[in-house]
Amino acid sequence: MHGPFVFQPGTTRDDSRILSLRHGSVMIIVTAIGTPDSAIERIVEHVERCGLRVNVSRGEQRTIIGCIGDHDRLIAANLGRLEGVEQVLKVGKPYKLASRAFAASPTHVALGDAAGTVVGGRELVVIGGPCSVEGRDMLQHTARAVQASGARALRGGAFKPRSSPYAFQGLGAEALELLAETRRDTGLPVVTEVLDPRQVELVAEYADVLQVGARNMQNFALLTELGQARRRVLLKRGLSATITELLMAAEYILAQGNTQVMLCERGIRTYETATRNTLDVAAIPVLKRETHLPVLVDPSHAAGKADLVTPLAMAAIAAGADGLLVEVHPDPTCAQSDGEQSLTFEAFDQLMRQARVLAGAMGRTIAPATVVESAAV
Ligand code: PEP
Ligand code: MN
Repeated sequence: MHGPFVFQPGTTRDDSRILSLRHGSVMIIVTAIGTPDSAIERIVEHVERCGLRVNVSRGEQRTIIGCIGDHDRLIAANLGRLEGVEQVLKVGKPYKLASRAFAASPTHVALGDAAGTVVGGRELVVIGGPCSVEGRDMLQHTARAVQASGARALRGGAFKPRSSPYAFQGLGAEALELLAETRRDTGLPVVTEVLDPRQVELVAEYADVLQVGARNMQNFALLTELGQARRRVLLKRGLSATITELLMAAEYILAQGNTQVMLCERGIRTYETATRNTLDVAAIPVLKRETHLPVLVDPSHAAGKADLVTPLAMAAIAAGADGLLVEVHPDPTCAQSDGEQSLTFEAFDQLMRQARVLAGAMGRTIAPATVVESAAV
């Protein structure tokens, strides 16, 4: 059994820290006005019987009862059910391993096995590539183009989570082979999505980073499997997930002893229809404040339209993102998925040029372009 917050052997994290965070949980009971002493005594007895410490503070009208102890015991005490209890306030964050309290310094996630690109440091890392792997030529072409513009890793979906069961579902295992082949040829680490816990082993054989898509953010079986697989994970925010829910999803992976987790803001569902999703720019500084994990931004799925991708990417950089995940296609008009939001090679190169300037102003770096653009020759 793999319970929460139990690190497996081999972790570099300190187990005693996890335990102290668990045992130090606090809930505060606010009693109703005029609650008799007898009811307060019964509350105190109940809390103590549950193995928790109690701190009673009597006011003019109300009594405040602090309950301190193990998080699970606090939950199991069902404090809200007790007579005389008007409100129960939780103190502290439900996420522990993902929190800044657990690790004050930023976590660095290496993108590939070879010493190379690290996400979460000073370098702002850009990952580019098609929504779906559609074939060898387009993948190789795209990989070389994004690499020339300064991308540090290649993205490409092999298994696609489509809203319609009739839409293109990806080339599956064949696409994984193509991704691995392209990595061999270019040296670019590859990022691809895993949809199901049963696919983790297969995808992990090929990919450097396993992406959890927005629709799967709360697939707890998948998150647990990825935690145990100890592979690098790019965890995207769910379509209607709060920041806390995103961090709790990360917590599932971390709780299994896998510290190689990157978060990705990709836009959330709002009432706005002018964009595919609404990029939650504020989530970036909030996440940077709350967690030590790297925060990437996917402006493509937030925008839904190619002409909005670069402005959103700039907003992400200005807000402190550690990296970008951008969809790029050799001919977006023919893309089998997400053509409307995919950038051409030229548009991606343009984005990278702007990003480099802004990143510099933010005290970050972006890898240089490696070829002279034809326009400049
Ligand atoms: C994708 O990256 O192509 C994708 C499906 O993203 P999301 O899960 O954010 O919709
Ligand atoms: Mn896509």
